[in-house]
Amino acid sequence: MGLFNQPAHELQKLLQSKEISCRELTEAVLTRVDDVEPRVQSYITRLDHEARQQAEEIDRRIAQGEPVTPFMGIPVALKDNLCTEGVETTCASGILRGFRPPYDATVVTRLKEAGAVFVGKTNLDEFAMGSSTENSGFFTTRNPWDLSRVPGGSSGGSTAAVGAGEAIAALGSDTGGSIRQPASFCGVVGMKPTYGRVSRYGLVAFASSLDQIGPITQDVTDCALLLRILAGNDPMDSTSLDHPVPDYGEFLRPEVGGLRIGVPTEYFGEGVQEEISHAVRTALGVLEGMGATVEECSTPHAEHALPVYYIIAPAEASSNLARYDGVQYGHRTAEDTDIVGLYQKTRKEGFGHEVKHRIMLGTYALSSGYYDAYYLKASKVRTLIKQDFDKAFEKYDVLVTPTSPTVAFSIGEKSDDPLQMKLSDVLTIPANMAGLPGISLPTGFHEGLPIGLQIIGRPLDEGTVLQVAYAYEQATEWHRRKADLRL
Ligand code: GLN
Repeated sequence: MGLFNQPAHELQKLLQSKEISCRELTEAVLTRVDDVEPRVQSYITRLDHEARQQAEEIDRRIAQGEPVTPFMGIPVALKDNLCTEGVETTCASGILRGFRPPYDATVVTRLKEAGAVFVGKTNLDEFAMGSSTENSGFFTTRNPWDLSRVPGGSSGGSTAAVGAGEAIAALGSDTGGSIRQPASFCGVVGMKPTYGRVSRYGLVAFASSLDQIGPITQDVTDCALLLRILAGNDPMDSTSLDHPVPDYGEFLRPEVGGLRIGVPTEYFGEGVQEEISHAVRTALGVLEGMGATVEECSTPHAEHALPVYYIIAPAEASSNLARYDGVQYGHRTAEDTDIVGLYQKTRKEGFGHEVKHRIMLGTYALSSGYYDAYYLKASKVRTLIKQDFDKAFEKYDVLVTPTSPTVAFSIGEKSDDPLQMKLSDVLTIPANMAGLPGISLPTGFHEGLPIGLQIIGRPLDEGTVLQVAYAYEQATEWHRRKADLRL
């Protein structure tokens, strides 16, 4: 196994004992990117030069006797909707091509302070709208387990990079499932923290009442360590919560004795592949065998989560994306026209099909006379979805479900079927609606493709979610399997 396939917590030991240098580790990852990137295509922008410089700086610090802390010297990838000072940040959209933000997102600053090395900016569905990276304005990323399949989305570049060993870990964003669904497709761990847990300052906004940044890693331990770095209050983001951040490492105990697990039956219904339901039920058996109580339960309004999401998310997106008009950021039409023409032509040329589609849907849902019938109504149903969860969490510590109804689908398979594409997120969207933390971790394979197990927790209780995930991971071997990308 190459260095590029090892989790950050193992590499930390090797760096500390000086068995490897950060430069060697970084070169191992960059060489891996050279080898597999032509086939996987995870990155929009590579930062080889900057990564080497960062690595040398870290080696100097280690040589001076500085202790190696979590993620110090670890090659990490960033989804390309996170602002990076002076480094192109495109959201995989023609409209932001050439945009170099004047500042770093708070999560980027925190990772820099932790000493992480940035390998590059990863591909996504344009403005994070999609479930396969096929909506990227530039190219489609491929699933490292089967190059004819999608990696999921929208953080498909980040999850493919981690799954392919092109980064040790990565950051993604999750508005309706965009960390968890691609994590499940690529056989890696991905967590959406509680809404407000991680600052979104410098995350290009999609749907502001839902967006959240989170870690994508090879195992649960790395997820806990990375979350600890990212989480916490930020005065630059008014929605970030001022709540103490626990040491998530303390939750990494292989024990679930006495924990109560709820299994909402709605997540095993129509459209969920039988092999996936089976794999999740087997996982529940493992947790039960370790002393957890497992019980069926119901969250009846979950079935409305998808339609509600497709009112709320486009409505908020239509407002957030109004700023791309050719005046301040990125693309501007070359045509000679008046001010309204400038807006129209710039937007027509810069945005892709799905983004335009959502701007129109959202503008309609917010328009006078329709606001009450759509946005307001959707917000009320959203409250009902949240109340279901509140009730379930009176009885259970976590809820366990499949992450996605299917394993990774073929490239092109759902491009002409928007409903099928959107159904891909039907099991992840409810947690976004209620702002809850959720993780996806590997729980088996179907036809050689990874299956994801989703664990949803109470607000701000990422710790218990990580504990259950860790206990399960330690009892199984799924996370040790790596995609075989030999030529
Ligand atoms: N796939 C969903 C969508 O298309 C969710 C995207 C996300 O979480 N960013 O909107």
